[in-house]
Amino acid sequence: MTRCIALVVAAGRGHRFGGALPKQYRDLAGQPVIRHALIALTEHPEIDGLRPVYHPDDAEYFAAAAAGLAVMDPVAGGETRQESVLFGLRSLDAAMPERVLIHDGARPFVDAEMISRTLAALDEAPGVVPAMPVRDTLKRADFGYVSETVERHGLWRAQTPQGFRYADIMAAHQQFAGQALTDDAAVAERAGLAVAVVDGAEDNIKITTEDDLKRAERMIGGGGTTRTGLGYDVHRFGPGNGVRLCGVDVPFDQALAGHSDADVALHALTDALLGTIGAGDIGDHFPPTDERWRDVNSEVFLRHAASLVVAAGGVINNVDITIICERPRIGPHRTVMIDRIATILSLSADQVGVKATTTEGLGFTGRQEGIAAQAVATIQIANR
Ligand code: MG
Repeated sequence: MTRCIALVVAAGRGHRFGGALPKQYRDLAGQPVIRHALIALTEHPEIDGLRPVYHPDDAEYFAAAAAGLAVMDPVAGGETRQESVLFGLRSLDAAMPERVLIHDGARPFVDAEMISRTLAALDEAPGVVPAMPVRDTLKRADFGYVSETVERHGLWRAQTPQGFRYADIMAAHQQFAGQALTDDAAVAERAGLAVAVVDGAEDNIKITTEDDLKRAERMIGGGGTTRTGLGYDVHRFGPGNGVRLCGVDVPFDQALAGHSDADVALHALTDALLGTIGAGDIGDHFPPTDERWRDVNSEVFLRHAASLVVAAGGVINNVDITIICERPRIGPHRTVMIDRIATILSLSADQVGVKATTTEGLGFTGRQEGIAAQAVATIQIANR
């Protein structure tokens, strides 16, 4: 039985936002709003799968936002948020998860700690809502005048992801379908389930208005820090009939020697990414003495480094590689190499640079004894 599946609700058309593009697909620090949430949830070790609920009109936006991420096929939502969640829950019938986390696609700043808190509380309670206590004094107002001051004691602002035992919340949603309740905790409450409150986070905002989007940009961009990492690697030539560079097999009259596939360019890039978060070097993570990494595709190393960057709260801004060799010629393969790296790192092609140079016959590269590669990576990381 699957332990936990995250349901990400993104079927809203964002009428409140006015613009043509629904808010969950708007750009936030170089990535769609929803992608930030998808990354946080798919990276969490206690989440086994992620089911997106979308509007079929947004299929293209969604595909772009989820590119390269391990998410299940999206299912179509309904007329209301509540109906969308119901459809999403139904789609998990066969998977029969023990637990579900239900998250709004327009909350990009969900973090690993909040997910863990919510899941931990589910051990005790059938429902869990992360929430923040209300600190401002509350007024009820009509026609521009205060009619009442509302006692704020005991009032909380509900956030997502909200956690439930699957069978419970499925039954509750079936029973109370069609009521347009605005969150799943409300559905659970209707069904008489106890819903525990855990700490939410002030940063876990829902992007509803243009102002929210600006605030989110400030939180990531203005409030964040740019980091740069540098990588360098060399592999010598040996007998063979091709080299792998940037994940692309290039026919040649020699091969590169190494414990893995000897992709010197991806090794340099992996080190550059590790460098942005002070996470050591490729040898620390994948010792050449370890048989598991013999002949392995170096994509594995790069993906791991990228996942560490994400786990540290980073978003890759761009990467740039220079391959240094007399031969083989890199130019004819450059576009494919860029596409390959862009796919692995879920970047667009204009965020990836691949260049090549010779050393005019000088030095070990000039003598064609091997290939060297340099890489630089820039990330944006949230201030903690
Ligand atoms: Mg190497």
